[in-house]
Amino acid sequence: MHKIVILGPPGSGKGTQAEFLSKALNIPTISTGAIFRDHMARKTDLGKEVDAVMRAGKLVDNEIVNKLVQERLAKDDLQVGYILDGYPRKVEQAQFLSEYRDVSYAIYINSRDTIVMKRLAARRHCDKCGAKFNFVTNPPKVESVCDECGGELVIRADSTAEVISERLASYHFFNDPVVKFYKRRGVLVEINGELSIDDVWQEIKNKLSL
Ligand code: AMP
Repeated sequence: MHKIVILGPPGSGKGTQAEFLSKALNIPTISTGAIFRDHMARKTDLGKEVDAVMRAGKLVDNEIVNKLVQERLAKDDLQVGYILDGYPRKVEQAQFLSEYRDVSYAIYINSRDTIVMKRLAARRHCDKCGAKFNFVTNPPKVESVCDECGGELVIRADSTAEVISERLASYHFFNDPVVKFYKRRGVLVEINGELSIDDVWQEIKNKLSL
């Protein structure tokens, strides 16, 4: 059973690599950020509760995220394994997870701040179908128009320059101890996230012997 955690700064491409892994291993990806965005779009109680925190680039309280992940991991579509993307983000979350699940690999896609800042500022998604683009790494055929459905490409509310710096500062403060946590447990697999999308995927496949 593959119980995988994907770590790395925002903009390191971990969401994309999580999708590749999910297809290659035929296991679902659980993205806490995507779950929260879905709640916000549907204006659920949880969505309303996390809206301001997310827009400010801050982290949602541990209790809320831990409960959400624990409930999701209890569902029965995860017999073969799963990939956690965006969780754990703090060492307390990693400790919480370790109390009821072990981790086979913590894949750490590392990238310098200067590189991820450029990539994040170039991110867009379609406000109709959700397809993701990046003006640097994955540009649409026509500027600001979705290749898939012709919808308008928009920037995520938490991807403005100010919020990006905030998210990166918070990332280092909280995530670096999570990396150390998994290193000590001997499950950390470090990947150079500054390579092209294909080369990062190649490195992951090599290191995991896929
Ligand atoms: P992401 O799509 O992973 O960048 O997540 C977007 C936002 O969701 C983050 O900036 C946080 O506000 C919130 N979030 C997602 N995962 C977590 C987590 N593990 N702990 C706290 N907040 C989270």
